[in-house]
Amino acid sequence: MANVILKEIVKKFGDVLAVNKVNLEIKDQEFVVLVGPSGCGKTTTLRMIAGLEEIDAGEIYIGDTLVNDVPPKDRDIAMVFQNYALYPHMDVYNNMAFGLKLRKFPKSDIDQRVKEAAEILGIQELLQRKPKQLSGGQRQRVAVGRAIVRHPKVFLFDEPLSNLDAKLRVQMRAELSKLHDRLKTTMIYVTHDQIEAMTMGDRIVVMRDGLVQQVGSPLELYNKPINKFVAGFIGTPSMNFIDVVLKKEGDGLYLDGQSFKLNIPNEFKESLLPHLNQELTLGIRPQDLFDSEVSKESASTGSTINTTVDVVEPLGSEQIIYLTTGPHTLVAVLDMQTRTGVGDDLKIAVDTSKMHLFKSDTEIAII
Ligand code: ATP
Repeated sequence: MANVILKEIVKKFGDVLAVNKVNLEIKDQEFVVLVGPSGCGKTTTLRMIAGLEEIDAGEIYIGDTLVNDVPPKDRDIAMVFQNYALYPHMDVYNNMAFGLKLRKFPKSDIDQRVKEAAEILGIQELLQRKPKQLSGGQRQRVAVGRAIVRHPKVFLFDEPLSNLDAKLRVQMRAELSKLHDRLKTTMIYVTHDQIEAMTMGDRIVVMRDGLVQQVGSPLELYNKPINKFVAGFIGTPSMNFIDVVLKKEGDGLYLDGQSFKLNIPNEFKESLLPHLNQELTLGIRPQDLFDSEVSKESASTGSTINTTVDVVEPLGSEQIIYLTTGPHTLVAVLDMQTRTGVGDDLKIAVDTSKMHLFKSDTEIAII
């Protein structure tokens, strides 16, 4: 078994609390992505799992063994770094073989493992080349190959794609996912890129200021963010946030946004009643806003917002539209059917069944 368990892990650098009582259970064969803005503690967490950073408090288990005092080389893990860390004077074959030679593996085993990894990664033709004769993507594959030949219990990746151009990054994302399907080894992957996290992870761990904010599948995080931070971090363009007050009219509840009113669907009424007359933050994704002229959403919910168009960004298949309503700004992703330009009035229909509401003070989600 190669599950990885972190219990109340703490790491301080002087006054900086880099990792603050992190608890995490990563299952055998799982692909887990640690994601969060720069400085949130994700690299430090990974380096503690690798044994490259000592921990100040807590316990780390790999495959049910407490590894707090086990040196990195004996943890049965392999790490792929952002800068690949290839040996420039060795050819690809020897770069991949080096770790096995150090561990005194027999030559025939080394040869078999290197050739197998090269075949998996499609780099058989490159084995005699030096790193400087390789493209960025090829170097990246060699760095992964060097990890594969070790047959580790756990792979650790620290932003392995960030030195590649956008197109190659997308390609390598798919290749690493396929590699995981093929090897079925536990993988822990650090990135600050939420799209990378969403497309690769079985589960995602969102971190902020050394704390785990939420752990869940990509869709759980997208559909049920636990707080405003996760809601704003996951999804492109980012979720819209608007200050509103929850009010009652007759039997119904509605959100007063100064320049608009949105009716609350019946399904949310019960959980929202305790928050009557409170200031809340409405969260609505750009993808849940529609042009009321061309969309059926307005007919079903009856909730619309009158806006003025500020900026139109046509992307070919869809367009990103920046809007204002009263004191608020909004971003909507609309299909290309909507013909609009800067300064036009646009009536936006809101799919209120998809809305989120956060407490203004704690930023915790209430629906
Ligand atoms: P990034 O995406 O920028 O790499 P991160 O989420 O991986 O960020 P960490 O590198 O884990 O963040 O850093 C967490 C905090 O600990 C930051 O405030 C950072 O400045 C601090 N830190 C990390 N390593 C050290 C170190 N060796 N000495 C002092 N402070 C450190």
